[in-house]
Amino acid sequence: MHAVLLKEGRQKSLLRRHPWVFSGAVAALRGDPAPGETVDVLAADGTWLGRGAFSPQSQITVRLWTFDVAEAVDESFFVRRIAAAVAARAHRWNPPVRSAVRLVHGESDNLPGLVVDRYGDVLVAQFLTVGAELWKKSLVEALRTALPGCAVHERSDAPSRLLEGLAPACGLLAGAEPPPTVRVQWAGLSFAVDVRCGHKTGAYLDQADTIARVGALGAGADVLDCFCYTGGFSLSALAAGAARVTSVDSSVDALAGLARQVESNGLDASRSEAVCADVFEALRGFRDRGRSFDLIVLDPPKFADSKGHVERACRAYKDINLLAFKLLRPGGRLATFSCSGSIEPDLFQKVVADAALDARRFARMLERYTQAEDHPVSLAFPEGFYLKGLLCDVLG
Ligand code: SAH
Repeated sequence: MHAVLLKEGRQKSLLRRHPWVFSGAVAALRGDPAPGETVDVLAADGTWLGRGAFSPQSQITVRLWTFDVAEAVDESFFVRRIAAAVAARAHRWNPPVRSAVRLVHGESDNLPGLVVDRYGDVLVAQFLTVGAELWKKSLVEALRTALPGCAVHERSDAPSRLLEGLAPACGLLAGAEPPPTVRVQWAGLSFAVDVRCGHKTGAYLDQADTIARVGALGAGADVLDCFCYTGGFSLSALAAGAARVTSVDSSVDALAGLARQVESNGLDASRSEAVCADVFEALRGFRDRGRSFDLIVLDPPKFADSKGHVERACRAYKDINLLAFKLLRPGGRLATFSCSGSIEPDLFQKVVADAALDARRFARMLERYTQAEDHPVSLAFPEGFYLKGLLCDVLG
């Protein structure tokens, strides 16, 4: 068996079952493993620590598959892991009320590099590391064993694949070719998900629960949904009886999707206004025109890709939150999110607090939000926690 030998003292995180070995912790390589091949990880004194996928190009040299010395990494290993991930979400699969669910959430399901979302009978999979790539065929077979009626479509076009030396890969892997859009339900709404071209695997399932909770606050309200994509929060607010919803996104395609979903959900299109613009500019435009709102949602893309971008990202978060606080009517509410994993919840809260201060609004925190429960966070892998949100109101 090929092996990675760690430097003195670098076994601590593995003993805590953190599943990554960084290149800086590696003292030596035994054997000649190909990218993705399974290697044993040994402490400096030779103690066996775990077994994982070797990735020579990445800064993460090994991603651990198992911490059990008796557990072989083979086809049946992936059948067991996939079956466990699917079983853990069984309660969430409840068509026609909810027919979309994240089935596999990478490290938090002991399957580093693999993400699988289920939309109806279509499974959309992302193989994001050389380890997941090497075992692709076995993983697809394991998915077909767990869910025999489902097609498997690949969406391995996330930029992180480049760090592993992998080119993007998309297309059908098993079963019947999916339709152009797959119709599914969550949060009391119907969504037409484009599994080929939609963002991520087609939709933002991490917000599936929160859109219902925030949308409900839109009853009778004048709502602004910034970074709306195809309209999770906008649709939910319209369904709750919002007086008016203004939805802003820079993507024409996203807004076309929103218009279709307003119609297919039987919502009142005359209450929905779509604005194709940069949110940073749109917010300034609203301010300059004296426009105000009862409920504002800020759900931007990841501003910080890594620790090195945190400062710049904080400036961007502060900017949009400051403007949003200025646009709120007295008693109005702001639901503000950050999906940047490298921005800690405390830091995000501080940025939002600074924004309220500079906007000269007395703001209060009413609720905290996080990623939906089918995106769990392994306690051994806090990096799995990325989505945080605050609901604030302003008095006066
Ligand atoms: N709230 C959405 C997800 C938002 S994803 C949901 O729950 O489904 C982020 C969105 O922001 C994308 O649709 C992207 O097109 C848009 N976007 C990114 N940068 C932007 C900018 N500067 N101005 C406006 N929209 C932007």
